[in-house]
Amino acid sequence: MKKLLPLLLLTACATLPDAAPHAFVPLPSPVTPIEVCWIDTGGVSVPGGYGAAGSTQAQTWEVTSPALLIRHPKGDLLLDSGISEKAEEEHRELGAWGRFVFSQTAGRNIPRRKLTDALAALGVTKPMAVLLSHVHADHAGGVSTLPGVPVWLAAEEQRLVETELKHPRDVMMPAHARAMEGRMVPISFESVPFANQDERFDVFGDGSVVVVPMPGHTPGSIATFVNVSPTFRFVHVGDIISLQESIDRRVGKSWLMRTLTDEDEEATAAQVAKLVQLHEADPDLVILPAHDRSVYVRLFGEDAEPLPPCRGR
Ligand SMILES: [Zn+2]
Repeated sequence: MKKLLPLLLLTACATLPDAAPHAFVPLPSPVTPIEVCWIDTGGVSVPGGYGAAGSTQAQTWEVTSPALLIRHPKGDLLLDSGISEKAEEEHRELGAWGRFVFSQTAGRNIPRRKLTDALAALGVTKPMAVLLSHVHADHAGGVSTLPGVPVWLAAEEQRLVETELKHPRDVMMPAHARAMEGRMVPISFESVPFANQDERFDVFGDGSVVVVPMPGHTPGSIATFVNVSPTFRFVHVGDIISLQESIDRRVGKSWLMRTLTDEDEEATAAQVAKLVQLHEADPDLVILPAHDRSVYVRLFGEDAEPLPPCRGR
């Protein structure tokens, strides 16, 4: 048994194979002034080894479970909605395994900002839509507090929600699935190359917010490029990786996070390889893992003011 552990560790830190060569379409120069705000709905500090495979550079993984408010002249768009204010109550509907997974992942978050209070403080009463990177509890938790707001998600993710409503597998919170019923809008991706991807959805038609499919972590996971200025551009990659160092070190998430949260580990690894390729093609584009607090602090500053930190416009 003593010999098994190093072997397991060795397997766990294997670097990823290269992504197949792919044409690269650069991000356009931004033409519309937009602003992005980081709403930190919850967070926690866990050992760095939870965040990425192998021996991590980060001693701790400082977790944020954010909602990003993107303010465009054509409307306010919310990218993810953070944890639920009622998570304690909602998670009791899950089966034993679902409750265990929740307790090891999204359930560890300690609540910070309330989504609706933060939006009200920023002067937003009703966003045009909530765009979900995927439907896990720490991304879809705020949907029920925004009644009537359309929920944009990939068609595969909508199917996942519809299946959960009929035959729950505890992939998501049943309460979140019910909250989305009747207001899900599938994203219509166009076959237009963007970055190193084959399809895209240009939300405002001006290249400021562009969504691409990134299936693996869940069947309809997406990534969102946000193009504020030539020096402030990022791609929010949901939970494809947990820590940004996964890109430099060419490794996926930790064994624990892959096992507990990835629907398709092989597909997720292929997406990480594509992110490594993207980073090589456009090193100034910030790759933003949904939960890597340190990157948010670098981008937006510490969240220490009465109002959530915003940048742009
Ligand atoms: Zn997550």
